[in-house]
Amino acid sequence: MGNNDVPIMQSCIPLPIDDKQLLEVIEKAKDWAIMHGAAMRSKTDFNPDALQFAPFILTPSSFPRKEYEKAVNLQVTLNELMHAVAHDTEFLRETLKSTIKVDTFTGSLFEIYETTLKEGISQPHSLALLRSDYLANFLESNAIKQVEINTIASSFGGISTFMTPMHSYILRELGHGDKLVDLPANHALSGLCDAMVEAWKLQNRPHAIILFVIEDMTYNICDQRFHEFYIRETYPHIQVIRRSLTEIYEQGRLGPGGELLLGDLEASVIYFRAGYEPGHYHGSNEWSARLLMERSKAIKCPSIHYHLAGTKKVQQALAKPGILKRFINDEQKIHSISEIFTGLYSLDKHEHGEEAIKLALKNPERYVLKPQREGGGNNVYGEDIPAALEKMSEEERSAWILMERIFPPLSKGYMIRPGGKMPPEIVSLVSELGIFGAIIGTKEEIIYNKQVGHMLRTKLSSANEGGVAAGLGALDSPYLID
Ligand code: ADP
Ligand code: MG
Repeated sequence: MGNNDVPIMQSCIPLPIDDKQLLEVIEKAKDWAIMHGAAMRSKTDFNPDALQFAPFILTPSSFPRKEYEKAVNLQVTLNELMHAVAHDTEFLRETLKSTIKVDTFTGSLFEIYETTLKEGISQPHSLALLRSDYLANFLESNAIKQVEINTIASSFGGISTFMTPMHSYILRELGHGDKLVDLPANHALSGLCDAMVEAWKLQNRPHAIILFVIEDMTYNICDQRFHEFYIRETYPHIQVIRRSLTEIYEQGRLGPGGELLLGDLEASVIYFRAGYEPGHYHGSNEWSARLLMERSKAIKCPSIHYHLAGTKKVQQALAKPGILKRFINDEQKIHSISEIFTGLYSLDKHEHGEEAIKLALKNPERYVLKPQREGGGNNVYGEDIPAALEKMSEEERSAWILMERIFPPLSKGYMIRPGGKMPPEIVSLVSELGIFGAIIGTKEEIIYNKQVGHMLRTKLSSANEGGVAAGLGALDSPYLID
């Protein structure tokens, strides 16, 4: 589909901004970003002593208010759904059984799950910090469609919290302070961290710390330190430590009661910001570390079953007709969830995979092909789909799902990135909304369930994907339009 046919949403303020004013406000905005931590470490020129501002959109991008509100209101129901899915062993086994035969990464996660099931789950409570991602679909009057739901390392809650104040500052500088009423408040950072602390309190172990599991190199450092600083500031008696999987292998052991011990410290809550990608596991040591944590009685965010519930294969299985009632017993809720699903198909030959393949080969531009991976850059789009499908064996196909492509409306704005051309040009943009949820509970009961904030990530309309950490997208905040 050519860009010509795509509707363009009204922008927050009249564009273009004249060059002199534009350059001046960008200079201020960049410094605002660096000085408030809307920043990252450079990937090309890594320096632990320095930060660069994270790519951002100069003025907030428009998003349909009704759809934003729909997503916000749905989050506690989605939390409830994911909680039920994560605790349904039979469903996870059945859904992932072909996938884990060919996808060794998901297979290794599943092995940890089976091991802990056999040994007996040591910690009945799970903490999940979820992010449900959406694109509005202009083919359906801009109704939001779920891109995916993240159950591990749902990022940008920290930095996104600062995007609303940053955009408020920029709009005031541009003489458009009147627009601020349509920027929804965002408390993602405190919402996510308060849930971690809630999990910590549940265990009544006053000396225990919260462990953040991190990558060997952290580029998105602000988005993790904000959490750490917020926790220490708001709950001065709680310490946060950061360790990689390798360090946890080297330093970790279980105490007599199943406590996770790291040197002299006991961790009673584990927050994973790594471990979702094969590259995070260099070998058996890192897998041992993951198993050790899972065996411990610390509350994991996420526990292994929640990680598995976040796979693309599970997302596809949930979109099958009639499945939701296995997890949710309220017709209205089931209806609201099914409304956000778009067509999702299995490629497994036992699940009518050939029919999905026919669809994809006939109209590849209407689909996205997805493996069981997180973190961006793994999907296959449009005209690349036929060749990708042909290369796969029948078995390999069961590790992938086919998803209908969502066609979002465009907005116009300025994307500001480190080293970018000045003054920047107005570009066509597409925004993806993420809604954060926090939930704590056991298989039997949910004791904490909240919607806690949002994020907006915006990419050039010409790019298939827009990961900010991957360098393709930019941080943004929604300007709600009617
Ligand atoms: P990941 O786990 O890698 O983040 P996603 O499912 O979120 O995988 O896909 C990555 C990106 O690809 C999304 O952020 C979105 O920009 C794009 N994308 C994914 N699915 C679709 C779809 N059905 N229609 C249009 N774009 C999509
Ligand atoms: Mg994603």
